[in-house]
Amino acid sequence: MKTATKKDKKFLPYGRQQINEDDLRAVAKVLKSDWLTQGPTINEFECEIAEQIGAAEVVACCNGTAALHLSMMALGVGPGDVVVTSSITFMASANCARFVGADVVFADIDPQTGLMTPELLEKALRKTPEGKAKAIIPVHFAGQPVDLPGIFDVADRHGAKIVDDACHAIGASFELDGKVEQVGGNRYSVMSAFSFHPVKHIAMGEGGAVATNDGLLAKRLRCLRTHGIQRERFLNTEMAVAADGQLNPWYHELQQLGFNYRLSDIHAALGCSQAKKLRANVERRNELASFYRMLLAERFDEDEVVPLGVRPRVVNAYHLFVVRIDFEKFDVDRATVMNRLREAGIGTQVHYIPVHLQPYYRQHGGTGPGDFPGAEHYYRQALSIPMYPALTEEDCTRVVDELEKALKGSH
Ligand SMILES: *Cc1c(COP(=O)(O)O)cnc(C)c1O
Repeated sequence: MKTATKKDKKFLPYGRQQINEDDLRAVAKVLKSDWLTQGPTINEFECEIAEQIGAAEVVACCNGTAALHLSMMALGVGPGDVVVTSSITFMASANCARFVGADVVFADIDPQTGLMTPELLEKALRKTPEGKAKAIIPVHFAGQPVDLPGIFDVADRHGAKIVDDACHAIGASFELDGKVEQVGGNRYSVMSAFSFHPVKHIAMGEGGAVATNDGLLAKRLRCLRTHGIQRERFLNTEMAVAADGQLNPWYHELQQLGFNYRLSDIHAALGCSQAKKLRANVERRNELASFYRMLLAERFDEDEVVPLGVRPRVVNAYHLFVVRIDFEKFDVDRATVMNRLREAGIGTQVHYIPVHLQPYYRQHGGTGPGDFPGAEHYYRQALSIPMYPALTEEDCTRVVDELEKALKGSH
């Protein structure tokens, strides 16, 4: 039997969804309709997201990993190509390259922000044979936009396209020359991948999307997400057309292998209703982040506990709130702190174990400890504390109180 936490306070996970009555109504409406999948709600969801981020096209799919995989396929990445991504990310940012047979080269991160920088990308590309790098997958880690214009300049010089992993960062933006550029709707990345997993900003259970301003890429993505089935530009014209020259009504063709990566209308309905709250939720996350920053600065020295650094002129979507802790200073290890916090009803997590240290990548890419000092240093210190719109300032104060106790051992 599950025992109640100390003092019976509610458990605060590191992230969680918020589902209201309007979300329930939206899903119920679709359940009573004629379409559970491949219906009109998909298009409605795609238009809603496209409008919010200012992208020409949004192609919805079943999860963020599928969005990344589809992007690699649409870009024509394959065996012999190299894809560069950050070592501090969810492993899907790298796996999508392996799905299409490409090799992964990791870039280090700035331990202050957790982000790939143009300089670190340049360094990674110098290790890559010229002309081999086809795609760069920068990650807007924790919701903070990377320096996309800077990364674009480097990628472009090496002939590589940017597909940003924007799974943490829907609703984030950055300013350039006085103009606000949205993550997902700008001219630096050819495609941007989003996830709608419940810990992300828009909770759909499972869901994903690719945003692009390129109509041809959008067409390819739509074809590939449903097996690769084509309903135009046929190769077998004699089979496609009847004796009278009219197109046979049943006819479709498979020219390139795709997947069933579709989203259902049930998920899309939840997505539509959730997406309407995106702006307000990003704002709330920013308020909570400011409050956390104030509390942490009051309680700790900057060389003991410090939140991730913020880049100038960006709107951070704050998917996560990561603090960097010098555990050695407190003479306590991270596992002990996490266990103490759990006991006090506070959920925390480590985002992420450097991907280049995963056994799979050590074996496939020959990477290992010491390769990326920024990522490894960051990893030793990172801890994600609760961050989601339903948190109150009281909750944040409780988190910081308990963190202080867990670190200073007065349990
Ligand atoms: C969540 C996430 C993904 C994958 O999304 P799923 O919807 O879980 O498949 C990819 N990259 C990053 C950075 C993520 O956080």
